[in-house]
Amino acid sequence: MQEYFDFRSDTVTRPTKEMIEAMSKAKVGDDVLGDDPTVIELEELAKKVTGKQGVLFICSGTMGNQISIRVHTNPGEEIIIEEDSHIFKYEVGGAAWNSLVQTRTIEGSYGCMSLEKISDSIRHDDIHDPRTGLICLENTHNNSGGVILPLEYIQEVRKLSQKRNIKMHLDGARIFNASAATGIPVKEYAKYFDSMMFCLSKGLCSPLGSILVGDIDFIDHARRVRKVLGGGWRQAGYLAACGIISIKKMSKRLGDDHAKARVFSKALGEMGEFSIDMKSVQTNMVYFKPLKEPAESFILRMKKKGVLALSHDDKVRFVFHNDVSLSDVKRALGIIKNDSMKRR
Ligand SMILES: *Cc1c(COP(=O)(O)O)cnc(C)c1O
Repeated sequence: MQEYFDFRSDTVTRPTKEMIEAMSKAKVGDDVLGDDPTVIELEELAKKVTGKQGVLFICSGTMGNQISIRVHTNPGEEIIIEEDSHIFKYEVGGAAWNSLVQTRTIEGSYGCMSLEKISDSIRHDDIHDPRTGLICLENTHNNSGGVILPLEYIQEVRKLSQKRNIKMHLDGARIFNASAATGIPVKEYAKYFDSMMFCLSKGLCSPLGSILVGDIDFIDHARRVRKVLGGGWRQAGYLAACGIISIKKMSKRLGDDHAKARVFSKALGEMGEFSIDMKSVQTNMVYFKPLKEPAESFILRMKKKGVLALSHDDKVRFVFHNDVSLSDVKRALGIIKNDSMKRR
């Protein structure tokens, strides 16, 4: 079998040995009946880390975003989201499907919609207009390169949302990456939002699962919406056992992934065959464009050589995670370099 290096996403990370062991030993109950002790332990831990009163362990990040939209809005309302956000691009139109709301998308710069544009997009009280029901932000912002939204920016959006009495949700799939890079605690980021979702199954290496947080009323309602979406789960403690390790241990090593992304982007930049915005390399992702061919053909050729990546629009995306070591990164760089020398 050919050796391969998988940079497609941090979602490909397999549970660690410690997680497999924790699963085999986990004490479980029935989470729908509310008595799975390991789920309760995970949720208590998530409360501490996020500073929120209400926590719900859920199947996926998409489910967390969709539940949040459903809880915060009423049918016919409008939600304000960045035009390259996961909620808008990659959730199968779920806001319309699950919550009967329409989306008001705004162009962002490094994941940030301008305050002026957000303000102008908030609807006024008029019989013709939908009500603005929610503002969503994404941190780190995936499609902009895994970039971090500055805390001051978040604070400004919060002020605006409070002034206009609109709730805010954070798609914090990779909020632990933002926290690892800036040193700002997850709790501090969470403070400015009425709800926040983060993924255990990406850089944090759990096989699956996400966490949704908010106040107690929000989570009470969220639990019902999770149930109606078919997301009530029984011996979920086996997965929660992994989630506990994700938060306690795996969150502490994300800086290593960021270092790999820096090494990779620097070496790639020096090859002169790729266009890459170094300003966007802030966490565990590197987006770039091959100068002489479409992203798709580069990706296909690399796949044959055992280096796996994904395309996003006209760009190639590499994501760095626990299952590719720094020496794997260096070997992948060698393969890319060889390839570009041959094609000269
Ligand atoms: C991966 C991701 C999600 C969705 O998480 P799933 O667990 O794959 O459903 C949501 N938002 C962002 C920014 C993501 O990268």
